[in-house]
Amino acid sequence: MEILMTVSKIASICTMGANASALEKEIGPEQFPDNEHYFGLVNFGNTCYCNSVLQALYFCRPFREKVLAYKSQPRKKESLLTCLADLFHSIATQKKKVGVIPPKKFITRLRKENELFDNYMQQDAHEFLNYLLNTVADILQEERKQEKQNGRLPNGCIDSENNNSLPDPTWVHEIFQGTLTNETRCLTCETISSKDEDFLDLSVDVEQNTSITHCLRGFSNTETLCSEYKYYCEECRSKQEAHKRMKVKKLPMILALHLKRFKYMDQLHRYTKLSYRVVFPLELRLFNTSGDATNPDRMYDLVAVVVHCGSGPNRGHYIAIVKSHDFWLLFDDDIVEKIDAQAIEEFYGLTSDISKNSESGYILFYQSRD
Ligand SMILES: [Zn+2]
Repeated sequence: MEILMTVSKIASICTMGANASALEKEIGPEQFPDNEHYFGLVNFGNTCYCNSVLQALYFCRPFREKVLAYKSQPRKKESLLTCLADLFHSIATQKKKVGVIPPKKFITRLRKENELFDNYMQQDAHEFLNYLLNTVADILQEERKQEKQNGRLPNGCIDSENNNSLPDPTWVHEIFQGTLTNETRCLTCETISSKDEDFLDLSVDVEQNTSITHCLRGFSNTETLCSEYKYYCEECRSKQEAHKRMKVKKLPMILALHLKRFKYMDQLHRYTKLSYRVVFPLELRLFNTSGDATNPDRMYDLVAVVVHCGSGPNRGHYIAIVKSHDFWLLFDDDIVEKIDAQAIEEFYGLTSDISKNSESGYILFYQSRD
């Protein structure tokens, strides 16, 4: 079994080599960007959920740069972040411009750290993205805490002022974190109370034949809290009917949008895929910002999309399409292809509800221009 797998893997890597040089030819020596590398990732048994997210993140330039900068710091004990940094470094320092890399160390570490991913089943790419970003942020915060503790005052006391404060934002937060404001207006006394909430990605509901702007509008639609969902108003000191809405108060540098395409169907007792056609533009401006938003006019460019192919969350396949130096590439595990910008339309989803089997955008990465 092992031998067979190895042989087939070698065979697939060999054909890969041919595809890889084809890619190099297609881009052309003049157009091939300096210091850029397009490397496919070997699949270690249903690890496309991981490969597709890693490729998308690699082409989120601010993220890639921070990960590579982390790699150049003094050697730390192995963590998911050191494995990620080693992988990115290995891609970025290849002699060849195109090829295939096995992300073995990263996968091994991931399986060791989280039992959810410690198997050979298909996983949810969004769940993985969430886990990865939060884990990297936790590692950075823990390291900073250690550094602070090592920088104790000579008599051994720690600067007590900083002891109980919230952890400082890390570069993961600087890149992906935005803030939502949850406004509730009491319909009796008109008092508005708002509560802020940070996010690293936004999950939006999808509807048939719509666009991302529509999904975001839906996300921020006013909801009426009534009957058993009445809201406790501090002014009225009683439960009242209220209007509630969620708006974006701080726009992130990179906006990660997760389309909620997997829906639990009560009748079927399982998740099903919503293959709805949801148009995602190459350029995006948010309209669901709050009045006091710091940077409401931010213009975003689409830089990467994780695409789900298939009919359900635990079956099917993930690929990534990314923008690099004004052209688009498709990463399908170890295969890398150049695609036309128009081909992105093929990943919007399907207008017919009959077939649930589609190749449709699942996580969108929009990078701010400023
Ligand atoms: Zn009230």
